[in-house]
Amino acid sequence: MNKNIPIISSLKEMNDFSKELKRDDGKIAFVATMGALHEGHLSLVSKANQIAGHTVVSIFVNPTQFDENEDFNIYTRDLAGDIEKLTPFKIDAVFSPKAEDIYHENFQTYVEVAGLQKELCGKSRPGHFRGVATVVLKLFNIVLPDYAVFGQKDFQQLKIIERFVKDLHLDVEIVPMPIVREEDGLAISSRNAYLSEDERASAVSLSKALSAIRESFQNGCRHAESLVLQGEEILLSNNVTDIDYLEIRDSENLELIKTAQSGNLVAVAARIGNTRLIDNIIL
Ligand code: AMP
Repeated sequence: MNKNIPIISSLKEMNDFSKELKRDDGKIAFVATMGALHEGHLSLVSKANQIAGHTVVSIFVNPTQFDENEDFNIYTRDLAGDIEKLTPFKIDAVFSPKAEDIYHENFQTYVEVAGLQKELCGKSRPGHFRGVATVVLKLFNIVLPDYAVFGQKDFQQLKIIERFVKDLHLDVEIVPMPIVREEDGLAISSRNAYLSEDERASAVSLSKALSAIRESFQNGCRHAESLVLQGEEILLSNNVTDIDYLEIRDSENLELIKTAQSGNLVAVAARIGNTRLIDNIIL
């Protein structure tokens, strides 16, 4: 139990604090978030507590991963509420930097994972993964984690982070964690709070479509197009008509596949009202 979690906003202070934690072979596990914490985030924090002696959580709504039509301005910001949710855990510090410090004057350097960032969400959110990869590398350089825990909820993001960690020879181990769901199957997301009652009822069809695809796969169907059609029917019959993608892809290089096999990614993104939701499963 930690009732007095230090909240650090200065980049230098955070970096000095981490160096101090790492003295005498101390290890840091890091959880990067945009706040509005929920059970999904807390599962990552709990994992961080298990794998290292020290845990640092960042709360930063990163402007460069939103485009101008997205929800940056209305994204829930509730630092006090988030800190409250973290009190059952052992947290050495919450890092909550200011955007003007992260993106200082004349900032002009970005991380691009050329291939992976083009697929899936990269198509409808141009620049999104460039913003994500850039901020995650910055956070790693400031927080100096030995481990960084990320959710499979953002599967493409996880693959992009794993890719640049390898490509740029970073000394941090990426630890993936499964998707935490509501009882009815809806993947927990900070954006679920935007849904009206009717939209919430439709939203559950994303996970239902994925489960139906998995069931059909388990019953022997391997034809990706037929599997996807079965999922699309479930979405459409639940008033989810604005489907960004529902696809079966290789779970490492994210390439589209024609014949499904175990280990493939089934990923969906759809807009329900004004809210864009994503979900996925591994076959
Ligand atoms: P966000 O605050 O949305 O940027 O998410 C921060 C981290 O929490 C990312 O690694 C997400 O993948 C992870 N995360 C978000 N929702 C869930 C969930 N339902 N289950 C597991 N991890 C999640």
